[in-house]
Amino acid sequence: MTRVLTAMFKHETNTFSPLPTDLTSYAARALIYGEDIPAYFRGTATEMGAFIQAAGHHDWELVHSVAADATPSGKVTQAAFDHIAGTIEKALRDDGPFDAVLLCLHGAMVAEHCDDGEGELLRRLRAIAGDDMPIGVTLDLHANVTDAMVQRASVMVSYRSYPHTDQFGTGQRCAELIARTLAGEIAPQCTVARGAMIDAVDHGRTTAPGPMLEMLARADALMAENAAWLDIGINAGFPWADMRDAGPSVVVVSDGKAPGTRDPDALAASLVQQIWQDRRRKTVQPLALDAGMAAIRAAAARAGDGVVVVADTADNPGGGGLEDSVALLEALLGAGIGRTAFGMVCDPETLHACIDAGPGATLAVQLGGKGSTQFHAPLALDVTVVSMQPGHFTFTGPMSRGIKLDIGPTVVLRCQGIDIVVAGSRHQVLDTGFFTHAALQPSDYAVVVVKSSQHFRAAFGTLAKEIIVIDSGDGLTSHDLKSFGHSRVRRPVYPLDEIPD
Ligand SMILES: [Zn+2]
Repeated sequence: MTRVLTAMFKHETNTFSPLPTDLTSYAARALIYGEDIPAYFRGTATEMGAFIQAAGHHDWELVHSVAADATPSGKVTQAAFDHIAGTIEKALRDDGPFDAVLLCLHGAMVAEHCDDGEGELLRRLRAIAGDDMPIGVTLDLHANVTDAMVQRASVMVSYRSYPHTDQFGTGQRCAELIARTLAGEIAPQCTVARGAMIDAVDHGRTTAPGPMLEMLARADALMAENAAWLDIGINAGFPWADMRDAGPSVVVVSDGKAPGTRDPDALAASLVQQIWQDRRRKTVQPLALDAGMAAIRAAAARAGDGVVVVADTADNPGGGGLEDSVALLEALLGAGIGRTAFGMVCDPETLHACIDAGPGATLAVQLGGKGSTQFHAPLALDVTVVSMQPGHFTFTGPMSRGIKLDIGPTVVLRCQGIDIVVAGSRHQVLDTGFFTHAALQPSDYAVVVVKSSQHFRAAFGTLAKEIIVIDSGDGLTSHDLKSFGHSRVRRPVYPLDEIPD
C-alpha cells in the first residue's frame, strides 16, 4: 500500500510585529497531532481536507504528524520552529517507509533564526527523504517563494483566489500531481522567477477584473497549450515580511517526461515581466479616515438593501495586525456614525474587566491601543456590557467552511450606538461567525466594520450594499509600505525605490 506522510506548518510572518509567534500562538489557532488531524479536517474546505479525500480515492495510507497554524504575527520562535519541524522530521525518519510527502505550507514564514522558514523546513525534510521521494507542497498566494523552496519540492502549487476560497481545490491539484508522479506518468520539477518588486499584481485580489485574474487566465491558456506545464502559480507575495526574496513570484511546475523542448525559467521570467509592467494597477484604493467617514455616511444614506461593510485594512490580523487599533473606531464615534457593529478589538485587559462587571453593567474602559506604543493610544470610553459568551463557532462562509474555532470568551460593548466585539485573542474577521456567536446579526446594522483587508468579501460580500476600504495608517498592515523601514529585502525594489520601467 502506498504510504504518504502529511503535515501542515503555516505562518505568514509580519516581521514588523512585536508579538513573537510561539507554541501558545499556534495552540490558539491550530496545533493538532496524529490521528486527531483527520478527525478535525475531514470534510472541511481545506488543503488537508483534500489530502484526506485524495487518500481515500487513491487508496493511500495517510500518516499524520502535525497540523500547525497561527494567526499572522511576528517571527516564529526558534523553539516553536524546532518543535513543529522536528515533529515532522521525526515522523519522516521513524514512521516510514514512505512513498511521498504532502505538506500544507503558507510560504511567508520568517523564524527568529532563519528568514526562509519553508526553505529551511524543506531542507531538513529532503535531508531525511533523499532526492527521489516526491514532496508535494501547497502554498498561499501570498507566499514569498525562494530558490531553496522550489529546489526541494517536487510539486509546489498555490491558491488561485483571494479571498482564498480554493484551499480544497489547491490541495486536490497538489495530491493529483503527486498521484501521477507515483504512477510514473510525470516527472515534475519546480522553478521560480521574481522581479524587483515587493507589491504588485493587485495583492492577488480576484474579486474584480484586474491584473491577478488576467495573469491566471494567461497561466490557464499556457497550460492548455502545452502539457509540459503541469501548474503555473501566480504569487502576490507578502510585503510585510522583511526578508531578501519577499514579493510577487511565478512558480512553474514542469514535466520532465513531456515530449519536446521547454524552458520553464524563460516562461516564469516572461510572466514576471508582465506582473512588473502592471505593477501599479489596483482594483482597490483605500480611503484615508476623513474621506472614509464621508463615504460611509453617503453610502448609509443611499437607498438599497444591505449594510455598508467597512474594512479596517491597516489593522488586519490576517496580515499580522495587532487587532487593537482604535483609530477607525474613534473616527466613527467622532462622526456620530451609529447602528454599527465593530468586529473585533483584541484587548484581554478590557475583556476581563467587562466579564467581572457582568452584562448590563456600565463602566469606563481604556479600549485597545495596548499592543504597541508605535500606534494609537487606548481610547477612553464609557460603555455598557451587552453580553458575554464563550467564543466558539463553526465557519459557515465560503472560506474555511466547516472549520471549528474557539477564540475564547468575548464580550459585546455598546457605546453611542456602536456594538463592539472584544476578544482576548487575535483573529481576522473573515466569517459572520465572529458576530453571530455573540448573537449579533450583521444584517441588523447599517454599518459593519471588519478587521480584514480582503477575505471578508467571501462571507460579507452578499450582505453588502457597499464595501468601503479604509487605511487609517494605524497598524501593521497599512498599505503605505514606505513607512515600515524595510532593511533586509533586496534593493532596489518597487515601491520602496524609484525604478525606471
Ligand atoms: Zn493569503
